[in-house]
Amino acid sequence: MPRPRADEPFCERPRQETTLLNLKADASSKPLRVLCLGAHSDDIEIGCGATVLQLGRRRPRAEFRWVVWSADGTRGREARLGAQKFLGPAAKDAIQLHEFRDGYFPAQFSAIKDAFESLAREFRPDIVFTHAGDDRHQDHRIISELTWNTFRNQLILEYEIPKWDGDLGRPNFYVPASRSAALRKAKALIDVFGTQRSKDWFSEETFLGLMRLRGMECRATEAFAEAFHARKIALSL
Ligand SMILES: [Zn+2]
Repeated sequence: MPRPRADEPFCERPRQETTLLNLKADASSKPLRVLCLGAHSDDIEIGCGATVLQLGRRRPRAEFRWVVWSADGTRGREARLGAQKFLGPAAKDAIQLHEFRDGYFPAQFSAIKDAFESLAREFRPDIVFTHAGDDRHQDHRIISELTWNTFRNQLILEYEIPKWDGDLGRPNFYVPASRSAALRKAKALIDVFGTQRSKDWFSEETFLGLMRLRGMECRATEAFAEAFHARKIALSL
C-alpha cells in the first residue's frame, strides 16, 4: 500500500456533519432557564464558559442563575466580573454569591443544603450545569451531590475542571463551541481571575487544549467543544 505523501491529509474520508441533539427552538415557548453552579469563582467559566457564551447569543430570552458557593473578598469580585463577562446584560439578575469556606464544604454540608433548598424554591431551571460527581476536589463533589439531591426533573450536565489530580474522565455529552467562543472563554479566564494566574496550569493553553481535544472527539465543525457527564437523559418525542 503506498505511503501518503507528507502534504496529504491523514484522513481522506469526507468530513460529515455530526448528528446533534438540539434544544426545542419554539420561539413561543417559555424562555429557557439555565442554572450554573460553581464551588469557586472560576469553576463555571472553566467548565461551561463557551456553552454559556453561545447560549446567551443564540437564546437572548434565556434566564440564567449563576451561583458561586465560595466567593468572598477578592474572589467574590472576580466571580461577579466573570459572570458579567460571560452573561453580559443577563448577569444583572443572575448572580448569587455565597461565602462558604473554601476547602471545607464537607464540614458545611447542612448549611449548603439549606441554601440549595432556598435556591430551588425561587428558581426552577430547565438545565443545570454543575460539578462532576467523580471530581477529586471535595468542594466540587459536595456541590455535585447536592445538585442531584435538589433538582430531580431537570437535565443535569456535569462539567470538567482540569487540575493536577488528573481526574478528567470519559465524558459522554458534548457541546461544540465556535472558535470565537472558545478563544473568548480562554482569554476572559486569564483577564478576570488574577488570583489564579500564579498557578502553573491556569493558562490559555490548558483551556484551549482541553476544548480542542473534546472538539476532536465530537468532530465539532469549528474544532472546539466543551464536554460533560450526563448520568441520565430523557428524550422527549
Ligand atoms: Zn473549584
